[in-house]
Amino acid sequence: MSYLSNTITVTGTAQRQAWLDRVLPPVEEVRPGLWSIPTVFPDNPLRYVLSYALRHGSGVALVDTGWPCEDAWDGLVAGLGEAGWEISDVRAVLVTHGHADHFGLARRIREVTGAWIAMHEADAHLEAEFSGPQTFLRADNAWLARRGGQSGDLTVIRQPRPEMFEHFHVRPDRFLADGERPLGPGSALSAIWTPGHTPGHVCFFDSERNLMLTGDHVLPRITPNISPAPGVEDDVLGEYLASLLLLDGYDDAEVLPAHEYRFRGLAQRIRDLRQHHDVRLSEVTDVIGAEPGADTVAVTAGLHWSRPWSQMQGMPRRFAIGEAYAHLVHLERTGHIVNKGTDVDSWYLAGEGRPGPA
Ligand SMILES: [Zn+2]
Ligand SMILES: [Zn+2]
Repeated sequence: MSYLSNTITVTGTAQRQAWLDRVLPPVEEVRPGLWSIPTVFPDNPLRYVLSYALRHGSGVALVDTGWPCEDAWDGLVAGLGEAGWEISDVRAVLVTHGHADHFGLARRIREVTGAWIAMHEADAHLEAEFSGPQTFLRADNAWLARRGGQSGDLTVIRQPRPEMFEHFHVRPDRFLADGERPLGPGSALSAIWTPGHTPGHVCFFDSERNLMLTGDHVLPRITPNISPAPGVEDDVLGEYLASLLLLDGYDDAEVLPAHEYRFRGLAQRIRDLRQHHDVRLSEVTDVIGAEPGADTVAVTAGLHWSRPWSQMQGMPRRFAIGEAYAHLVHLERTGHIVNKGTDVDSWYLAGEGRPGPA
């Protein structure tokens, strides 16, 4: 993730102040019948997750749940209470994407309330195939080795938290499809499939209140991590850039993200995010031009980061390699570079540095 200049209008001023004060923002009724409920996101620089409760029938539907831990659960129950609801009033859980800070409490909510859970099939599919931390780590280490990460300094990257894995097995009751109205055909809420940050990421547009719930797709301050999961060879950055344009026509909507704070200026924010990746793509190209044959880790080390590569350890380093790789794959698929490596990546500008006969 990296930081961009602020060209948006912050509407969640209490949230922004809380962000600056490093405290949890308040529960707010953003519009009649729609509340933002923050819960703690422990040991993460994002610090909190914003869930949204919408009046639905005799209860509420929840968009995202917060991280699977006791403090977040208590915060969710208390937040619903401030909004005038009980946890037993939750009828539905709509998940923007398959990251644990967004669906981590879904199973517990369903157990307590009987609420149904919906998410896009592309992310539910990933959860269904997930077969435990050891398998995941093996796949990730194999992925890292292909990227060039065999120097030993990357072996400490993965320090999984057990709760993160216990809750991966959340089978949704329903799949969300693009354009669908998950709360019923008469409801103002529709799903927009925005793959990129994850394959099954969705945003929700509330046409009655003119609100865009963006999950992690568009955030006011940081760029979401775009990085293919181990084994995924798709051009996820290309998908993300295309998905950004899907929200381009909603510039007059207020944006309700899952982290940080509410804002207006969606079209400008989309331009900034796309420009950020354009700059990054040319930076990656420059590194390969200067160092033909570099592997992905070497390219990553050659890029500018918010703190020096040498000081980056653990998960930030893993995220950085994933981000760089997403840019490399995008450049490859668009014909700008080629990967000549077999066991380990070896990147060249297209048409250059090809050893041996063509
Ligand atoms: Zn996410
Ligand atoms: Zn998130």
